[in-house]
Amino acid sequence: KEVTPETKQPAPEATSDVKISSRDRVIFPEAKATKGDLADYYAAVAPLMLAHTARRPISLVRCPQGRAKKCFFQKHDSGSFGDHVHHVPIREKDGGHEDYLYVEDADGVLACVQMGTIEFHGWDSHVETLEKPDRMVFDLDPDEGLAFADVKKSALDIRRQLADIGLVSFAMLSGGKGVHVVVPLDPGHGWDAHKDFSKRFAEALSLAEPDRYVATMSKAKRKGKIFIDYLRNQRGSTAIMPYSARARENAPVAAPIGWEELADVKSAGQWTIKDAAALLERAASAELKGWGFASQPLPGF
Ligand code: ATP
Ligand code: MN
Ligand code: MN
Repeated sequence: KEVTPETKQPAPEATSDVKISSRDRVIFPEAKATKGDLADYYAAVAPLMLAHTARRPISLVRCPQGRAKKCFFQKHDSGSFGDHVHHVPIREKDGGHEDYLYVEDADGVLACVQMGTIEFHGWDSHVETLEKPDRMVFDLDPDEGLAFADVKKSALDIRRQLADIGLVSFAMLSGGKGVHVVVPLDPGHGWDAHKDFSKRFAEALSLAEPDRYVATMSKAKRKGKIFIDYLRNQRGSTAIMPYSARARENAPVAAPIGWEELADVKSAGQWTIKDAAALLERAASAELKGWGFASQPLPGF
C-alpha cells in the first residue's frame, strides 16, 4: 500500500471533545504551565502531529503529578485510556503478543493527555505495515561539553551524506539536547535491513571522522563527540514524535526545522508548548511545507 502525504494527512481542523480534568494542575513548575495549557497546546497542534504520528505504535511518557514528580514510560495498554486510544497486538521476541497503543485523531491525543501524558514516542512503522518501517531516524546525541553549533554542523553533514546516496532527509529539534535527522522511506524493506543500513551508515561516519562521531553506546568513548544513535531504527524502538512536548524544564517541544533555518537556531528547545500559534504558522511556511514526507525506497529495495 502506497503511503503518501495525501493518504496520511488528517483533516486540518481536527478537534476533540475529550474532557480534561484538573486543568489547573501545574505540570511544568519552571514554566508555570498547567495540564490545561498542555491540553490546549496539543489540541492546537494535533493535526500537525497526527500527520506523522497517527497509526504508529506509540510509547508515552506519563507524569500524572507533573514533570518534577514521578514519570514513567508506558508501552502497553493499561486499559484505562478509553475508546479513543486504540490497541494493536504485536508479536514479542518470546513469541507471545502484547497490546501496544496507537492514536489516529485529536481525541486519541487528548485522551492520552488527560491520562497525564507529556511525551509521545513512535515506532518507525505504522500499524497496518508493522514489519515494514517507513522512517529512519538518526538521533544525534552530543557529549555534554559540545556546543549546539557542533550538533547543527553534524546534522547538515549527515544530510549531505544521505543526499549523496539519493536520500532526502529532514531536521527536527528534539526539544532536549540534540537534533534528529529523519529519513522518510517507502515501506518496502524489513527491520533487519532497516537496522543494518542505519548501523552501517553511522559506523561509516564514525570511521571517516573518529574525532567527531561515535556509533557505539559506550559513554566512555563519547567524550567530546556526537553519538549517532542509530538504535532508534530497530523493531520495538521509538523516537520522540514531531510536535511532542518534552517532560523537561520550560516545556520544550520536538520541532521540525528547515535545513536553511537551522543555522539561526540557538538550542534544541527553542520552541515550547507556549508557541502553538507560531508552530502552526511555521508549518505552513515554505521552509516546512512537506516536511517529513518523501517517497523513496531504502537503497537496494
Ligand atoms: P535528546 O535530544 O535530549 O537526546 P531524545 O529524545 O533524542 O532527546 P534520547 O535519550 O537520545 O532523547 O532518546 C532516547 C529515546 O529512547 C527516546 O526518544 C525514546 O523514544 C526512547 N526512550 C526514552 N525513554 C525510554 C525508556 N524508559 N524505555 C525505553 N525507551 C525509551
Ligand atoms: Mn537524542
Ligand atoms: Mn539517543
